Amino acid sequence: MDLRLYNTLSRETEVFTPRGPGPVTMYICGPTVYNYAHIGNARPYTVFGVLARMLRRRHGLRYARNLTDVDDKINAAAAELGVPIDVITARYTEAFHADMDALGVAGEFAPDIEPRATAHIAGIIRMCERLIASNHAYEAEGHVLFAVESYEGYGRLSGRTIKEMIAGARVEVAPFKRHPADFVLWKPSTPELPGWESPWGRGRPGWHIECSAMAESHLGETIDIHGGGADLKFPHHENEIAQSVCAHGGAEFARFWVHNGFVTVEGRKMSKSLGNVLLIKELRELAPPEALRYLLLNAHYRQPLDWSEAALHQARATLDRLYGTLRDLADVEAAAASADEVEAALADDLGTPEALAQLSELARAAQKAEGPAARALAKGRLLAAGEWLGLLQQDPQAWFQGDKAAIDVARIEALMSERQAARKAKDFARADAIRNELTDMGVVLEDTPQGPRWKLG
Ligand code: AMP
Ligand code: ZN
Repeated sequence: MDLRLYNTLSRETEVFTPRGPGPVTMYICGPTVYNYAHIGNARPYTVFGVLARMLRRRHGLRYARNLTDVDDKINAAAAELGVPIDVITARYTEAFHADMDALGVAGEFAPDIEPRATAHIAGIIRMCERLIASNHAYEAEGHVLFAVESYEGYGRLSGRTIKEMIAGARVEVAPFKRHPADFVLWKPSTPELPGWESPWGRGRPGWHIECSAMAESHLGETIDIHGGGADLKFPHHENEIAQSVCAHGGAEFARFWVHNGFVTVEGRKMSKSLGNVLLIKELRELAPPEALRYLLLNAHYRQPLDWSEAALHQARATLDRLYGTLRDLADVEAAAASADEVEAALADDLGTPEALAQLSELARAAQKAEGPAARALAKGRLLAAGEWLGLLQQDPQAWFQGDKAAIDVARIEALMSERQAARKAKDFARADAIRNELTDMGVVLEDTPQGPRWKLG
């Protein structure tokens, strides 16, 4: 079964074949760690994590996802609090890892290497030097700039001409630039800003060169797959290509480029000014993380994904049904099985919506299965299907108990009143039965002088 992937560079869906006999190499641009991650940030790591697992199974994989831990946004956050940048980056790296673990972007779905930009400054400086030596970059007023006109392939990924880039772009106009589209590889730091000694004075790297240097250091000159959110195509990925190709004497940088579409919230772009930025850490309080993961996989990665309360409710209800099937099969030993239809859906340009449809189909089949052998096989296939997607791997009991937010408050209140009524009527057997039912739902009862109270245990 071939793996077909849409390649942004060729604008075609191509059959993916590894470049060489060794493991496949993949680089996904990681977060800038200066605040909490929102649900949109989780999309590339979730969907390309599913790709990572598939590549591991097929070919072996070396997967790098960086942490951008030096950046002007980090400097601003550190200055605001009056702390060094590593206080900020340590805090938000830890929070990012907690979010990723909760969303199941762990184990086979997680990167093998998580390089940090600040640990690659020497490599970044060396790359700048090589680019200057080959006339692809130049120094001006303590800056090192990439000369876009020195690379004829500039604009190929995003399909823009240099003229269009300047017209529509946020390119910084600076008097020392030879060409307005030239971008920064290295810039000077003032004493209060983080900086490193370099041939051009004390300074810090530009964002784009960090990824080129980290990819080179961990994955070599040419990598199989490179990706991130669609907003990174230009300028970030365009610039990464220019730097890497020119620093490596024209060698191809990445063979396949993959980009995910954006997450919107109730039809609108997430933005601070609209106050609709959904942080993963807050969503985790509202819903089981597995439901968040389900929702993220429920749209094709190249399409926009609209986040809504209704979609979240739906994701949770579907998982209730799937885990309900597994609970019904709790006493059945799962047979070793595969889920080829799920693999086939994923091999078709990461067709996660189709894979989820197949998962539901396998659950329906499992509900209908009769006889020990058929039930064992159906359970095995359902679990194998879930494994491809990082779903259905908990004990069903844990899902139903852990899904605290799914607890029906109206039902709890009704049982509380019914128990009071039973006690008043001196029907203690009934009152105890209700208490047991509430306990099973994870509710803890307290009889206070003001009357009975409940909380989630
Ligand atoms: P950043 O930390 O801003 O560099 O973003 C980390 C990753 O999240 C990048 O791959 C972005 O392209 C991606 N990203 C940011 N916002 C969204 C969004 N609303 N939907 C999907 N991906 C996003
Ligand atoms: Zn990058």
